[in-house]
Amino acid sequence: MDLALLDQTLAAHGEPRYRAGQIWAWAAKGVDGYEQMTNLPVALREALAHELPFSSLTLSEEAQSSDGTIKALFQTADERPLEAVLMRYRDKRRSICVSSQSGCPLTCTFCATGQMKFARNLTASEILDQALYFRRIEPLDHCVFMGMGEPMLNLDNVLAACERLPEIGITHRRTAISTVGWIPGIERLAEQPTPLRLALSLHAADEALRSELMPVNERYPLKDVLDACRAFYERKHRRVFVEYVMLAGINDRYQQALSLARALSGGDREGEPSIFKVNLIPFNPTDSPYEGSSRESIAAFRAALESRNIPVTVRLTRGRDIDAACGQLAARTA
Ligand code: SAH
Repeated sequence: MDLALLDQTLAAHGEPRYRAGQIWAWAAKGVDGYEQMTNLPVALREALAHELPFSSLTLSEEAQSSDGTIKALFQTADERPLEAVLMRYRDKRRSICVSSQSGCPLTCTFCATGQMKFARNLTASEILDQALYFRRIEPLDHCVFMGMGEPMLNLDNVLAACERLPEIGITHRRTAISTVGWIPGIERLAEQPTPLRLALSLHAADEALRSELMPVNERYPLKDVLDACRAFYERKHRRVFVEYVMLAGINDRYQQALSLARALSGGDREGEPSIFKVNLIPFNPTDSPYEGSSRESIAAFRAALESRNIPVTVRLTRGRDIDAACGQLAARTA
């Protein structure tokens, strides 16, 4: 729900300020509408139902994958498209992947979102309404900002949304903000008192190759980005996740695994546990010329990193049959 508009609407009705808190508390618990908010006067519930849309987003489409993943395509009030995903895991974890922008101004060559038109930053309410949509389906416990957009380019609204996520059930420790390596954003996140997690989309340890895959590397070269990540760790003592999408013949060779290990190694922290944890992401097909690495190359890449004491996981691909997997969140209606 548009929380700024909520305040205005309540003021127009001469309602006390605590009403906004009551209404938010109900929404965060996953109720479907104002009529269920039994501690509000009936007349107010009715007025709100007429005057203030319960969500700032309208659902345009929803798809459920055979693995239980649900993808929702929404529109903002000004008809900007965005997507969000609910991932359900066997261990009962319920993780949402949310968008911070409609489209993305960056142009990573392998990502479908980068191919669509950038519309605008989402407001904090529009980010929260993605979470609330899924909270109405079931309780949630994890959130990643890995949907559409670059969260560090909209950090005020992202942080404002994060403030309220714990009330929906998602603690800061279970919330990760993923970035292409936008250094001013990493620095600001390090200054926050909250234990939010940082994830870095790295994808190539070699500067020239990384610039080819992610033009933003020209502006913020990997070497400087990794320094910013190390400073983040020094400050927060929270491990940084590294995302690395596996592209056949491009960034998946043994030698490239070794240079990644070198780039991530401690330097003066020799012998201490790595501050980076690598997540290898099987590539999900987009309209780009790339192909995903084979299982064998992913396994070999993983082994090479582990031999250099870098912790690695291989991401489970969720929702590929409904185009909800990473990098596939391009709204076709856009
Ligand atoms: N802009 C931020 C937030 C989006 S995260 C960032 O880039 O970190 C989306 C994640 O999915 C990123 O790690 C991105 O590199 C990855 N990704 C993009 N396209 C992909 C694809 N086709 N297959 C697998 N992962 C992809």
